[in-house]
Amino acid sequence: MDDEWICGRLGEDEPWMLGAVNPPVFENSLFTFETAGELGEAIKNEDERYVYWRGTNPTVDLAQRKLAALERGERAKCFASGMGAIAATISSLVKAGDHVLVLGAVYGPTTQFLRYLEKFGVTHTHVDDLEGCDSAIRASTRLLYFESPSYMAYAVVDIAEVTAWARERGLVSVMDNTWSTPIFQKPLTLGVDLVVHSLSKYIGGHSDLVGGVVVGPSRLIRPLALTEYQLYGAAMSPHDAAKVIKGLRTLPVRMAAHQERGLAVAGFLAEHPAVRTVNYPGLPSHPGHAQALRQMSGFSSLFSLELDTDSRPAVAAFIDLLRYFRIGVSWGGFESLVNAPALSTEESVRATMGIPVGLVRLSVGLEPADTLIKDLGLALEGVGPLA
Ligand code: PLP
Repeated sequence: MDDEWICGRLGEDEPWMLGAVNPPVFENSLFTFETAGELGEAIKNEDERYVYWRGTNPTVDLAQRKLAALERGERAKCFASGMGAIAATISSLVKAGDHVLVLGAVYGPTTQFLRYLEKFGVTHTHVDDLEGCDSAIRASTRLLYFESPSYMAYAVVDIAEVTAWARERGLVSVMDNTWSTPIFQKPLTLGVDLVVHSLSKYIGGHSDLVGGVVVGPSRLIRPLALTEYQLYGAAMSPHDAAKVIKGLRTLPVRMAAHQERGLAVAGFLAEHPAVRTVNYPGLPSHPGHAQALRQMSGFSSLFSLELDTDSRPAVAAFIDLLRYFRIGVSWGGFESLVNAPALSTEESVRATMGIPVGLVRLSVGLEPADTLIKDLGLALEGVGPLA
């Protein structure tokens, strides 16, 4: 089964679709039954039977079937946001007294959620590499959590090596694969136990959706679907599932276009004298490029660069001069976006977190690469020599 077919057709020949080219959106909050006995049976298997939308819905199911197949997993569960998926997944795997290892830089709110869990007696340690894992692991460690490429720095983790390490020690591994999408990287095939995504980025693709998913074996997804999915209530709506399905229709084509534009823009910036570094694993000069080629089949178009300056006003002036890159959070949509983390972070926090003042994040959209390169070039010239 190839990815294009999964995105476009998988699960779409069911009788209930009546040959419709797009799936119906099941807007009903509940399903009814012929007898009280049938309802009782359905409630016992509420992760698979249609009872109430907070648990299951046919349109959401179709999105889940496609996402599971794309990640080569048995089952997927969609959530109302990426954080909904991440919070439910971590909660399903730990109990009071347990410890979590976090490898490399991960999305800020994921760390905030782990800090939040401290009040329930779950602790965590951030480490940079496998040596760090070796020193930080405890008898109570249950879970290894990471992203690859990592958040903001886009460092590449050797996924097979790290998951083998975790498995030998009886830990469950969870990886956020939002950056690559399953089109460019399939972590379950490299030994990861559960993959999470924000669907709000490339998979949705049109900046009109917030959603999340977790994918993995039934033995891990079923308990989560019956417990955290039902109790936290971060259920995906069928309308959002329909948007996910539409996003998937064009995902392979969009990712190819994002890659082409991302490589061109990053290549231009890497050569520019006003730029100190470009953190993009697609560039041969990136320290993780060789490993990336071993485990990824392509590169998305989100990366960071460091301007050759330590002046906040210079960074702000550069951003304000951009015309095609719009200023905003999030990423992975059709539109190019720019954001400078230092400008929205208190100076004391920035310094402790080690975020360089000149760090700028770009999400390269689907505009022509030449236009984007011209835009960046003019803004770099317009700001004058960077101090
Ligand atoms: N994972 C990564 C890498 C993200 O960048 C984000 C959001 O920016 C999330 C997860 C959370 O997803 P959501 O915003 O859909 O909750």
